[in-house]
Amino acid sequence: MRTLLIETDKKALVAEGEACFTLAERFFNRTFKRAEYLFNQRGKAAGSAHLQRNLIKFNPILFYQNQDTFFEQVIPHEVAHLVVFQAYGKVRPHGIEWQNIMKAIFKRPALTTHNLNIDGVVGQQFDYACPCRQHKLTIRRHNKILKGERYLCRYCKEFLKSL
Ligand SMILES: [Zn+2]
Ligand SMILES: [Zn+2]
Repeated sequence: MRTLLIETDKKALVAEGEACFTLAERFFNRTFKRAEYLFNQRGKAAGSAHLQRNLIKFNPILFYQNQDTFFEQVIPHEVAHLVVFQAYGKVRPHGIEWQNIMKAIFKRPALTTHNLNIDGVVGQQFDYACPCRQHKLTIRRHNKILKGERYLCRYCKEFLKSL
């Protein structure tokens, strides 16, 4: 599993971001400060936009498992956040301004979640149950239970038991 992006892929991601900024500039008839890009997003997030720093982080593991989704969705999604912040300041993250940029300018569906293959970033899961349903716990929680911690089901308020 690749945890670092190779240079040509970094360039392709940045080029797609640049294409989105250019579309936004044509639409708004103004310039937008270009993002800084980092390729060290961790966890289950495909990417994240850091508004004050005008910075976008991409997740290298998820990129290699979901390249089409990155170019179709993730890059425009994050660039749209920065364009919204520069154009409108602090507004709701996926509010009407963001949705309009996605749909009218970038011509993409305004989805707030991506259908990603996250196999590589989800750790091993452990099966537990309460009286009302089954639960999947992370190894972190499972280890805590082994050390004596107990977890309640948030629905039935009963303790979870290992299956
Ligand atoms: Zn978002
Ligand atoms: Zn329950």
